[in-house]
Amino acid sequence: MNKILVANRGEIALRIMRTAKEMGIATVAIYSDADRTALHTRFADEAVNIGPPPSNQSYLLGDKIIGICKDLGVDAIHPGYGFLSENAAFAKKVTDNDIIFIGPSPEAIEIMGSKLAAKAAVAKYDIPMVPGTDQAITDVKAAKEKARSIGFPILIKASAGGGGKGMRIVEDAGAFEEQMQLAQSEALSSFGDDSVFIEKYISSPRHIEIQVLGDQHGNYVHLFERECSVQRRHQKVVEEAPSAVLTPELREKMGQSAISVAKSCEYVSAGTVEFLVDENLNYYFLEMNTRLQVEHPVTEMITGLDLVAAQINIAQGEPLSFSQEDLEIKGHAIELRVYAEDPANDFLPDIGQLTTYQRPGGPGIRLDDGFEEGMDIPIYYDPMIAKLITYDQSRGACIQKMSEAIDAYRISGVQTTLGFGKFVMQHPAFQSGNFDTHFVSKYFSGKALRQEDDAEAGIAAVLGAVLFEERRQQYKTLPQKDLSATTAWRSRDR
Ligand code: ADP
Ligand code: ADP
Ligand code: MG
Repeated sequence: MNKILVANRGEIALRIMRTAKEMGIATVAIYSDADRTALHTRFADEAVNIGPPPSNQSYLLGDKIIGICKDLGVDAIHPGYGFLSENAAFAKKVTDNDIIFIGPSPEAIEIMGSKLAAKAAVAKYDIPMVPGTDQAITDVKAAKEKARSIGFPILIKASAGGGGKGMRIVEDAGAFEEQMQLAQSEALSSFGDDSVFIEKYISSPRHIEIQVLGDQHGNYVHLFERECSVQRRHQKVVEEAPSAVLTPELREKMGQSAISVAKSCEYVSAGTVEFLVDENLNYYFLEMNTRLQVEHPVTEMITGLDLVAAQINIAQGEPLSFSQEDLEIKGHAIELRVYAEDPANDFLPDIGQLTTYQRPGGPGIRLDDGFEEGMDIPIYYDPMIAKLITYDQSRGACIQKMSEAIDAYRISGVQTTLGFGKFVMQHPAFQSGNFDTHFVSKYFSGKALRQEDDAEAGIAAVLGAVLFEERRQQYKTLPQKDLSATTAWRSRDR
């Protein structure tokens, strides 16, 4: 493999290119008009404009991307996450054009892209599943009976859903028909497939997923778990590894289940098997994501592996260079997704210019980002600015390091999830490890953040006043301009 095209943008495009470069592989970027000056565009050895900003006119143009590969003599495409990464038809076209797709086979993508097909594929293995229907619902009456026998509340899910979308909680039988109709029409309009099914609504689950790797020779390993229960809109914001609740026995059991899921579709490359874990530590298979995951860095930190390098080696036909026994968890890692969103306003996206952008740094701090001061966060794409990852020997030290890194990370011009991240790190439930997917709804409100800000501003003001008094004593008179220092501190903007 001499040349890779990265069919993505932002932090993940950069992250992939860095590893490619390290491996001596040339890189090609594609960029939309909105990303002319983006870091991924500048970092690549070659960069090709792909079209106007909207992704359906740029990053989603599979045929155009394949054409660019042919023109530039590209050997392989890495799709990153999102965009074309889980598009089986694209993966097939790529391989049909004699280009390597750095990821699983089109067949595996297809099976696992449908939550129902995935459940059917793993049925022959002994993998615990959430009680529910295993076929798309056609008979609403029968489905309602099934829901009754499972017990409300239940969840209606779109089989083709993803990104936290396409789920509806139904509290009781009365609302069932109406919710079913809404769910089906939503599934059709959002995912082009109206298949929906029902699942028991697990009342206080943790989201724990297992990273797996499979090569082209039938070898599989799991790279332990990631705890991803801190979510908003059913989407992760804070992830960590290892989980505070898994015992070595349960880890091994879930790891083996994850490998079985991978085997069920002859999975090749890096993939993630998601589970829900209930209060009694029963676990249930949720779905498999057939791509490199946003939160893969926490796994890299605790295993010392480079998952992109592993993907590239596997795509070149190399067998895994290590076995399960060679792998062990070292230390603890936490990731905070830094989104341009306003946590005080329901985490709504907040687009704008990064007027201040100062990166934290130091031992055990990794920042995967794709921006510089002065750049705009475009409205066309996912509003993630960066992933802040900290690593330390223990969970406690890692939380502390994350708190400090958040403080050192200065962003103004847009609202971000940094303050929310600090809230999580300081929360007793998170610190104790005793929390579930309802962490945000249970403990967090915009008000909580404001109170915290006020408290910090209060401390800052008191400190400022003390310093002011000290200096006043020292110098007797303080020049006027120095007064602004304490007020600027107060109105600290993140
Ligand atoms: P992960 O599962 O890796 O934690 P997310 O669920 O946040 O990640 O999704 C990763 C990226 O893929 C995000 O940019 C998200 O917007 C996008 N994404 C995931 N699933 C879908 C989908 N079904 N349709 C559109 N975008 C999706
Ligand atoms: P997506 O494809 O959107 O990622 P998932 O099936 O992975 O969908 O579910 C995303 C999140 O939704 C989970 O992490 C969990 O918080 C919640 N969820 C999904 N299924 C259930 C369930 N049966 N009971 C309770 N919560 C669920
Ligand atoms: Mg999921």
